[in-house]
Amino acid sequence: MLECALCNLTPQDKKWMLYENNDWIVFLADKQDYIGRCMVVCQEHCQSISDLNIEQWISLKVIMSSLEQMLKSELGATMFNWSCLMNDAYKADCACPHVHFHMRPRYAEPVIIKNREYRDDEFAHHYDNKKPAQITDEAADFLFAQLKEKISLYFS
Ligand SMILES: [Zn+2]
Repeated sequence: MLECALCNLTPQDKKWMLYENNDWIVFLADKQDYIGRCMVVCQEHCQSISDLNIEQWISLKVIMSSLEQMLKSELGATMFNWSCLMNDAYKADCACPHVHFHMRPRYAEPVIIKNREYRDDEFAHHYDNKKPAQITDEAADFLFAQLKEKISLYFS
């Protein structure tokens, strides 16, 4: 799709790509409101999750399991909030939704990045959609490098 941003990702957009296979791309999200927040984007221009085929679902299940395992082991995440919203796509005159998921790790205990402690103050409640980024760009670069280095332990 020519007009779809997620079909036309630039090298800059892919700066924080952690993993990809034929069906999905995993990114560390630009906005680290919840530490380790990721985005999982369908490789194909699929407009609704009900349009995903069985192979895409199976592949997604493997990615979800790998990603959750990695963030539990590497950051101590307790559980995860997965959402597929796509509301922004409908702000345009000509809606062009492209299936993607937001994954927010949630923490019962503080998470430590570069010797600094971050708390999930909303833990056990709905995530705060207006929460600002919690870590500096430098700490986010560090987090990305840390996860990228370990990715092969969790994703085959
Ligand atoms: Zn698309």
